[in-house]
Amino acid sequence: MSEVICHVLLCETDDGLVLVDSGLGRHDFADPKRMGPARLMLRPERDDAKTAVGQIEALGFRADDVAHIVLTHMDFDHIGGAADFPGATIHTTADEHDWAVVNPNLTSKLRYAQKQWAYGPTFQTHAGPGDPWKHGLSGIEVLPGITYVPMPGHTRGHAAVAVDAGERGLLVHAGDAVFDASSYAATSPSGTPLTKVRRMRAFETAMAEDRKRITGNHAALRLLNDEDGITVLNAHDKRIFDDLVSA
Ligand SMILES: [Zn+2]
Repeated sequence: MSEVICHVLLCETDDGLVLVDSGLGRHDFADPKRMGPARLMLRPERDDAKTAVGQIEALGFRADDVAHIVLTHMDFDHIGGAADFPGATIHTTADEHDWAVVNPNLTSKLRYAQKQWAYGPTFQTHAGPGDPWKHGLSGIEVLPGITYVPMPGHTRGHAAVAVDAGERGLLVHAGDAVFDASSYAATSPSGTPLTKVRRMRAFETAMAEDRKRITGNHAALRLLNDEDGITVLNAHDKRIFDDLVSA
C-alpha cells in the first residue's frame, strides 16, 4: 500500500488539550505484540518522534496537559497512543465501547488489541444517535465544540468527530469512515486533484464490519466537504495530511 499515516488532531480548549484519535504510541513500539495481529498487515514504522506524545512534547506541552482523547473507534492504530496519556479520559461511542470492551464477540476479540487499554483508563461513553445535525446525520456533543457524528460501518460504533476550529471553520475527522480521500473529494483542500487509490479501497472493504454502510458514509462526507467552511479529513490518507499541514 502507499504510505499510510495515522492523522490525529490536537485541539487547545478551555478543558485542556484534546486529542482526536491517538495513533500508535511509545508502548506499541516498545512492545509490538501489544498491537495485536492486525499490525502484521500494516507493519507500522516505529518512530517515537512521530507519536502524538512525541509531537506534543516537541511543541512544549507535557503529556499530562492532554485531558481528553476522543476516539473515532478503537482499532489498534487509533487507540494505541492513548497509553502515553494515562491521565486522559478516553471518549468513545457507547456502541464501540460495548463491542470492544463490555460485550466482545469473537470478531471483536480478534479485531481489537485489548492490551492497549489494560492500563485501566477512564472511559466516558456517548450513547447515540444524538440530535439532528447536518445533511440527515445526527450529532452527540462530546465536549464544547466537539461532536460525535455516528458513522458505523468500518466498526460497529465508529463515529466521525466534528471540531469547531473557530476561524478555520469546522474540521470533520472522518477517522476510517473513508480511506481513499478521492471517495469523498475531487481535490485536496488546497485544490490538488485526488486520484483513486485502489489498494486503499480494497483494504477498506476488507476491514469493514458492515460493507453496506461504507458507500453511504462516503456520500455523507462528500456533502459535508462540499459545504463552505467545512473540511473533511481522514485518518490514513497522507495526501490530505500533507495538504493541511502545509496550509
Ligand atoms: Zn485505522
